[in-house]
Amino acid sequence: MTWFQEKLYDHYAQTLSIEKVLYHWRTEFQDVLIFENAIFGKVLALDGVVQLTERDNHIYHEMIAHVPLMAHGSARNVLIIGGGDGGTLKEVLKHPVERATLVELDGEVIDLSRRYLPEVSGGAFDDPRATVLVMDGTRYIAETREKFDVILIDSTDPIGPGEALFTAAFYRACRTRLRPGGLIAVQSGAPFFQPQELENVCGRLAGSFAGVRPYLAPVPTYAGGMLALVAAGESRDALRPPCKVLRERCGPLQGRTRYYTPEVHRAAFTLAPSFEPFVRSD
Ligand code: SAM
Repeated sequence: MTWFQEKLYDHYAQTLSIEKVLYHWRTEFQDVLIFENAIFGKVLALDGVVQLTERDNHIYHEMIAHVPLMAHGSARNVLIIGGGDGGTLKEVLKHPVERATLVELDGEVIDLSRRYLPEVSGGAFDDPRATVLVMDGTRYIAETREKFDVILIDSTDPIGPGEALFTAAFYRACRTRLRPGGLIAVQSGAPFFQPQELENVCGRLAGSFAGVRPYLAPVPTYAGGMLALVAAGESRDALRPPCKVLRERCGPLQGRTRYYTPEVHRAAFTLAPSFEPFVRSD
C-alpha cells in the first residue's frame, strides 16, 4: 500500500493510505496532490498539508461561512480570500447575498478543484453572484475600493504564500474594507499544536477590532482535535447572538447544512479555561 504522510509538527505525523493518485503537480506557488483515501474519499493536499477531504470538508466550510454570516444577519457583499476549492463560496451563496468575491492566489487550485473535486464547490463558481479573481489577497485588499459586509480568510497556514494573510497590517487593511457592522472570520490553525498561531491572530485582530472571539470546529483530518477560527467585529456580543435570533435568521439555510445549526454556532464559542490566554481581549 502507498501512504501519504503529513508531517506538520515535530514528533507527530498523520498518515493516510493512497488508494489512487488523481493528480500530482507543482504549480507556480505550491505542490498540489489530489488522491483517494478509502475513509475520507478525495483528499486535496497543498505542499504536503491536507486542505480538505470529501468526507469532512463541510464542517470547516459551514463553520467559516455561516458563523459570521448568521452573526451579521443581513450580509449582501461578501469577500473570500483564498478558498480556491470553492467550498466556502458554496456555503456563502446559500445566503441571500448579492455578491461574493473570491480572491485566490493560485488559479490552478481553482481549475483542479473544479475538475477533480466538483462536489466541494457544487457549481458555486458558475453562480452569477460569484466573482473569481486570481491574485494575491494582500494586493487585492490594498487596491480595492469596494466595501464588504463579511470578509472570510480561508487561507493555508502562515507559511509560504499564506503568511502575509496573518499580519496585523493585513487585518488593518481588511478593517477599512468593511461596512459598518461588518465582520471578519479567520482560519487560525489547530490550537493544540499551534497555540501561538491562535494567540497571534487574536492579538493582531484586537489591534483593529473591538470584539474578537475564537471559536472551534472539530475537523477529523486537521490533526490536533479542534480547528480554531476567530471572528471579529465592532462588538463581541454581535458574534454570538442568542439562539432565538439565529433561528429567525436561519430560513435560507433550512435543511441545507449538515453541521451548522444555531445551537452549534453558540456552542462553538464556549471555550475551556485553557483558552483564556486567547480571549484576553474579551
Ligand atoms: N481549508 C483549508 C485549510 O485550512 O487547510 C484552506 C483552503 S484553501 C485550499 C487555501 C487557499 O489559500 C489555497 O488555495 C492557497 O493558494 C490560498 N492562498 C494562500 N495564500 C494566499 C494569498 N496570499 N492570497 C490569496 N490566496 C492565498
